[in-house]
Parts: sequence; C-alpha cells; structure tokens
Amino acid sequence: MQASRWQKFEISIFSKMSQLAQTYQAVNLGQGFPDFDGPQQIKEAAIQAIKSNKNQYAPSFGILELRKAIADRQKDNFSLDYNPQDEVTVFSGGTEAIFCTIVGLCQAGDEVITFEPFYDSYPAATMLSGAVLKTVSLKAPNWSFDIAELKAAITPKTKLLLLNTPNNPTGKVFKREELVQIAQLAKDHDFYVMTDEVYEELVYTPARHIPIATLPGMKERTILVSSTSKTFSMTGWKIGYAMAPAALTKAIRIPHQFTVFCSATPLQYGMITALRLSYEYYHLLRDEYAERRVALYNLLIDQGFQCLMPEGTYFIVANHKNLLDIPDNEFAIWLTKEVGVACIPVSAFYADPEKASATSRYVRFGFCKDLQTIAAAAEKFKANMKPALAKHPK
Ligand code: GLN
Repeated sequence: MQASRWQKFEISIFSKMSQLAQTYQAVNLGQGFPDFDGPQQIKEAAIQAIKSNKNQYAPSFGILELRKAIADRQKDNFSLDYNPQDEVTVFSGGTEAIFCTIVGLCQAGDEVITFEPFYDSYPAATMLSGAVLKTVSLKAPNWSFDIAELKAAITPKTKLLLLNTPNNPTGKVFKREELVQIAQLAKDHDFYVMTDEVYEELVYTPARHIPIATLPGMKERTILVSSTSKTFSMTGWKIGYAMAPAALTKAIRIPHQFTVFCSATPLQYGMITALRLSYEYYHLLRDEYAERRVALYNLLIDQGFQCLMPEGTYFIVANHKNLLDIPDNEFAIWLTKEVGVACIPVSAFYADPEKASATSRYVRFGFCKDLQTIAAAAEKFKANMKPALAKHPK
C-alpha cells in the first residue's frame, strides 16, 4: 500500500481537468499545453538523430553540444556566463530539474519558502527531501506580496526559496524592485534561490523578465531552472535544464543520475537545433501569443469575468464571483460540464486546496491554444452560459 508520506497528495488537477474535459467534450483551456506544434526543423533534427542511430544513452548530464547551446543563449539574452561542463545540466523537463534541486539541496530540519499560489510539484519534492514548506502569499488582484510576511517566514533553518517568474498561475512577472528585496534577504540570511523561469520567453511589453541571477551577488546562490517545453511548444518532449555554480550543480546532478540517468537522446539533439534558432523565432512566438492573450482576455471580460491582462505566461486568472459565487473547484467542474469549457481552480495551487477553495473565486484559463480553439470556447460560452446560469440553484 501507499506509504503514508504520499497520502496527502492527489492525482494532479491538470490530469483531472483534462480527463473531465474529455468526458464532457469540453474545449480544454485547463491543462497548460499548446494545441499546436513547435517548428518543423526541431522535429526534423530529432528524426535525423533517430535515423543516424543516436539512440543510446546520452551523457547523464546532457549532450555537451546541447549544454553549450543552453549556455550560449543565456549569455546572449542576459549576459550570464555558465560553464557548460560543470554548471549546466539537462533534465527531463523543468519539473525534474525542480525536483532534483530540492531533494539535492534540502534535508530534514531545513525550511523551504515559496510564494503561494505555487506550482503543484513544489510541496511533493519538498516533502520527499524531509524539509518543511512555508508560504508567503501573493495577494489578488495584482499578486503583490508583503515584504514583512516574507521576512517573518525566514528563520536560521531557511535553506532555499523557490521563485517562479513569470508566475504560474497568476501571470505575474516579478519586478526588479521585488527581486532586489528578495535578493537582499537571500544574501543577509544566506539561503539559496531556485528560480523556475520556464515561461521566460512569454512576457508581454512593457513587462520584462529579469533572472534574479543577474542581480549582484546572486549568481553564486541561484539555481536557474528553465525548459524548452513552452519556448518551443513541445511540452511532451520534457527537455528542461538547470544552471548553477559547480558545487550546486554537483548536488543536483546526483538525484538525476539515480532516477532518470539521462533524458531522451534524439530529443536532446532536436533541442540543439531549437536553441540555435534566430531571434525571429522568438519575436514570432511572442507576437502570436500576444494575439491569443487579447482574444482570451476579451472573451472572458465579455462573459462577465473579472480579470487583469497577465504580464507573462500563457494563463489568465479570472474571478467568477459576479457570475456564480461558489467555490472555485465547484465552478471549474460546473463550467466544464454545463458550459463545455475546462479551466483550473486556482485553489489547487495552494498548500491547503480544500481550505483555499472555500474563499477562492479564481479559475485559470490557458491561451496556449490556436485562435480557432479560443473561438470554439467563445461559441460554447455564447450557446451555454446563460441557460446554465439560469438553471444553477444559487
Ligand atoms: N505546467 C502545466 C500547467 O500548469 C501542467 C503540467 C502538468 O500537467 N504536469 O498547466
């Protein structure tokens, strides 16, 4: 039977809502995955690798050529210098990189701090390391945090702070002033910072993505995690990576070696091509996402949701209180079944989802979808929302 340490964890909300969407044939704006594919050249490069017999284990820490491409891009974009030999590691997705960072650095007696709402893998990895997770709230509607609350969460046991910017689910992009405050605390209290920057390319003007590792004195205490999934619209390839000083890199490579050992070899070859794409690719990606963002935002506002235009990511968090004042998890299920549009209750991103859903009136919609898919969601809303609301026993 299941070990007791896992008992408080459930099947992920992303799997649950995708399943429900399928059952009710709803337009799935829940789980965040694009319904379009990344560039053809990337696929060709992986196919070529398979055909030319690059099908055995890769080096555990990633093909050197891929690690070089990752390091070059980080240098071009942010003037951050990482040595591909001992400071860059390829993982099977950002989630594995996050997991290996937490279990590689933390142990019983340590404390980990993160902002809430947070990505659902953070508590599981922290639990397995034996450390305790403490949260600092991002406050709706603009998801700011109170520096006093962060200070109060820090103790001599604080080992690691988990920072996710651009932030899932809120769409918040942490501002320089906020990062400066966090960095100062990390230096004063001597803890590490793991940044989950998987949405780094999905930032909309005038917001700007700033890796905290670029702030003075921070590179030496930061583990920077990113991924190719969102940037190249291939979430199923699960090629992520982490950059960190050599001593930290050594610590996070060990759990990777003994779990996954190495990520799929031909897919790593494919991603070398991806990371060497020119700037035009990124401009096009952002332009297309900017259009999808406006389309979904307009649709949600038209339907009577209250929401802010997100600064980053491919998610919009919307308040449904004016439409139907019920817990967000009930609303998400109702919307999927009765209206035919699936979303994710934001309470799922809280330490105690049950408790959070009692007051949360926020659901997350993804716009990593073709404009036709967003239009199909609009049709569902137009046809079904009014009648569904009319028959709901308020
Ligand atoms: N990152 C995706 C999201 O937030 C989900 C990934 C997953 O399902 N594991 O929707």
